[in-house]
Amino acid sequence: MSSGSTGGAGGHVFARATGLPTASHAGGAVVVDTDGREYLDGSGGAVVTSIGHGVGEVVDAIAAQARKVAYVHPTAMRSAEVDAYADELAPLLPVDDPRVYPVSGGSEAVETALKMARAFHLAQGRERHVVVARGGAYHGSTRGALDVSGRDGLRAPYLPWLGATRRATAPYEYRCPAPEHPVGCGTWHARRLDELLTDDVAAFVAEPVAGAGLGACVPDEEYWPAVARVCRERGVLLVADEVMTGFGRTGRWFACEHWGVRPDLLVAAKGASSGYWPLGLAVCSGRVREAIGAFTHGFTNSHHAVGAAAGRAVLRVLSERGLVAASERVGAVLDACLRERLGGHHAVGDVRGIGLLRGVELVADLATRAPFPRAERVAERVVAAARERGLLVYHSTGCADGRDGDVLLLGPPLVITEEQVAVVAERLALAVRDVLG
Ligand code: PMP
Repeated sequence: MSSGSTGGAGGHVFARATGLPTASHAGGAVVVDTDGREYLDGSGGAVVTSIGHGVGEVVDAIAAQARKVAYVHPTAMRSAEVDAYADELAPLLPVDDPRVYPVSGGSEAVETALKMARAFHLAQGRERHVVVARGGAYHGSTRGALDVSGRDGLRAPYLPWLGATRRATAPYEYRCPAPEHPVGCGTWHARRLDELLTDDVAAFVAEPVAGAGLGACVPDEEYWPAVARVCRERGVLLVADEVMTGFGRTGRWFACEHWGVRPDLLVAAKGASSGYWPLGLAVCSGRVREAIGAFTHGFTNSHHAVGAAAGRAVLRVLSERGLVAASERVGAVLDACLRERLGGHHAVGDVRGIGLLRGVELVADLATRAPFPRAERVAERVVAAARERGLLVYHSTGCADGRDGDVLLLGPPLVITEEQVAVVAERLALAVRDVLG
C-alpha cells in the first residue's frame, strides 16, 4: 500500500516534525502531550490562540452551525451567520463604515486586501498598481503576500516570481536608521515613505506593531499619525495588517487604536477564531467598497458559515471575560518579569512589545548589536530548550534590513494569569542560559 520508508507514525505528513512531542489535549494556557507532560503555551502557537484552549462554548457554536448549515456559496445564498458576524464586528473595527470579507486565514486576507486596493483605483480610472511595504515585514506565504513581505531569506528562492513591491523603512527602535534617533524617528520614516509614494502607488501595507517579521517592534508616538497623513495626502490606501495584532493582542481590540489610526483596509486572522477554525478577514471602508463595484474574487471557503459562528463565539468570549483589558494588564506583568529575569544577560539586546505581544532580541555583541550568525540557529535552539523546560515559544528571525536575526516572540493566550507569565519568563530565562550560558 505505502511506498518507501516514512519513519513511523505521521510519516506521511509533509512537515518534518521529527523529535517533537505529540499534543494530546489542552486547556487555558496549558498544552499536554501524549506522555502527560504539561507545557505552558507562551506563544499560542504562532500567536494564534487568543481565548485559550478548550473553550467549550466555541466548540458548541461550531458544531451547532455545522449541523444547521455548514456551507453555502456566497454567490448563491446569503448566510445569516456571516451577516450577524460582520454586524457584530463592525463597531469594534477602526475602519469607517467597515465592510467585512471573511476568508480562511491571513495570507488570503492580505491577497484580498491588495486586490481590493488595486480594484479601488482601477474602478476610478487610475493606473495605480505598486504596493509599498516595509523592510523585515511578514505578510504571508502566498506569492502576493510573500512579495510584500520584506524578509530576504524567505524571498530568495522565489525571487523570479517576485519584485513588484517598493520597500519602505521599518520603525525598528532597536536598530533605528533615523539620524537623530531617538528624536523624530516617526517623522523621519514618514518622510522616507513620502518619497516612495509616486502616482503609480496603490497602497501602503504595514503592521501597526511588527510581529512575526521583526518581533514585537512598537513604533514611536509620531510614526502612525505621520504615516497616515502622508498616505492620505498622496491618495494611497493604507492597509493595516492586524493578522497578529488584532482581537485584543496588544491591549486594544485592534492595535491601530493606540494611535487613533483609521486605515482604508484592514486584515486580521489568528485571534479572530483563536485557532478553533480557519478564519481570516479582509475589511475595507464603505468608501472603498462603493468605489470598487463588482469584485470578481473568492476562495472555496470565503464567507464560511462555520467560520462566522466560530468568530462570533470568540468575540463573545473576548468581551464577556474582559480579555482585551487583561492583555494590557497581564502584558505589563510579563514585560516586568522578562526584564527582571533576562535584563542583564550578555546576549539579551532588547526586551520590547505591547500588551501580550513581547519580543526578546538576542545578539552576539551587546555593544555593536551584531546578530549571531544565522547558521548557529540560536533562536531555534532556545525554542527547543524552552520546550524541554515546559514552555512553548515562537520565534522570529527578521532584522529591519531584511537580514536574519534571533527574536523570541511571546504571545500567550489572553487568559494566561499573572502567576503563569512569571513562570513563562523564568523558563525562558533558563532556556536562554541553557543555550548561551
Ligand atoms: N500577516 C501577518 C502580520 C502575520 O503574522 C501572518 C502570519 N504569521 C500573516 C500575515 C499570514 O497569515 P496566515 O499564516 O494565516 O496565512
